Amino acid sequence: MKLYPTIGLEIHAELMTESKVFCTCSAKFGGEPNSRCCPVCSGLPGTLPVLNSKAVEYIIKAGYIMNCDISRFTKWDRKNYFYPDLPKAYQISQMPRPVCLGGYVDINTDGETKRMRINRIHLEEDAGKLVHENRISLADYNRCGIPLIEIVTEPDFHSAADVTAFFEKIRLMLQYAGVCDGRLEQGSMRCDVNISLAPEGSDTLGTRTEVKNLNSLRAIQRAVEYEIYRQTELIENGERVIQETLHFNDATGETSSLRSKEDAHDYRYFPDPDIPPIIFTEEELAAIKADIPEMPQQRYERYTGEYGISDADASVLINTKSVSDFFEAAVKAYNNPKPIATFITVELMRRINLGEVDADNIPFSPEDFARLVELAETGKISKDNRKTILREMITAGESPEAIAEREQLWIKEDSELTEKTVDEILAANPKAVEQYRSGETKVFGFLMGQCNRALKGSASPAAIKQVLEKKLNNI
Ligand SMILES: [Zn+2]
Repeated sequence: MKLYPTIGLEIHAELMTESKVFCTCSAKFGGEPNSRCCPVCSGLPGTLPVLNSKAVEYIIKAGYIMNCDISRFTKWDRKNYFYPDLPKAYQISQMPRPVCLGGYVDINTDGETKRMRINRIHLEEDAGKLVHENRISLADYNRCGIPLIEIVTEPDFHSAADVTAFFEKIRLMLQYAGVCDGRLEQGSMRCDVNISLAPEGSDTLGTRTEVKNLNSLRAIQRAVEYEIYRQTELIENGERVIQETLHFNDATGETSSLRSKEDAHDYRYFPDPDIPPIIFTEEELAAIKADIPEMPQQRYERYTGEYGISDADASVLINTKSVSDFFEAAVKAYNNPKPIATFITVELMRRINLGEVDADNIPFSPEDFARLVELAETGKISKDNRKTILREMITAGESPEAIAEREQLWIKEDSELTEKTVDEILAANPKAVEQYRSGETKVFGFLMGQCNRALKGSASPAAIKQVLEKKLNNI
């Protein structure tokens, strides 16, 4: 009996608003514990929440980029539960009338395009954070009331690869739309995965478990793989899968039981009497839709089409929004996209991957970077020295011209110096000269390299080649 996994997702994404969703407290990450709280988000009696219109605009944008229907009428409900991270003892969320319904996102895995359907997206508030130290637990309510969208998918996923491809695509799209910063390490996006197994071809789904609060791509992948493995073992050994909520332990790579699953009615949802429902006009929705910036896929098509950049380079550029934005600004300064793209994907990305440069905080301007590429393209510096100058720009923070000047990296085409240097190299390598003259012309490359190094990029390769050939061939 071959078992087939069926997976559905609930993705929470924090919105990039300045203030929280129902009060004016800062929605920034971090801060002294409980320094970004007020009577509203601390749940003191007698306070009244006021809905942040920016959060509503952001969820509508999220809905449009995921091809959802935007409800013309939407309202908020109270989800009641007691837990120390929730001072009000209820969370303001949306039950029957969410902002977004339906929708889909296409992903590519296993060499095919798959359409993953979205059930709904609703707007709610985040809860606080509990810090467990020794035998006490501390509550930090700074995160309480940060606007959150919950994206609920249909159970269209069948592997860890499907799930991670979807999650990564959503993250990138939300970042491009300016809706969520996608900083997983700060908890800006979290994923709950529902997994069940059933015999292949079966009409009914098996009992499902839910793994909560996965906050990295690696954790999502490992948790899905482990849960498929664990349920397969249970079923094959004739045991039962219990419907429950699980926690994934990053250290062991295993899941463990958090609690048996509550049913939805346990939350006693009822309409929130403090937040009026919203009716959107067509004009309002059209204005929000028109304000959505270019999505990664559109950028990819522009790069490969209009700019003629290779598929591989275009993918690298769009996969990190800050790098793609940097590229855009560099092309504005020097309209020559291809060499800029190549130098970014080969050299800048290498330094980002080595951890020498933070992609979100590149230590030089795109204009300086563009001029560096231009200096090499117009023959003012050598391609090798372009790399040397970039290294200096990272550490010294000077302009490319200042570094070229200080380190004397300009191509000077000083023919006297070139002749003198070539003479010195030939005198120092009599054996190679001998080999070349007796027909072993392969050593030319070696001699070129020696001259190049000695001249430190002050002469162009073409000029060196000319002098070297002349001296080797007609003494
Ligand atoms: Zn507040």
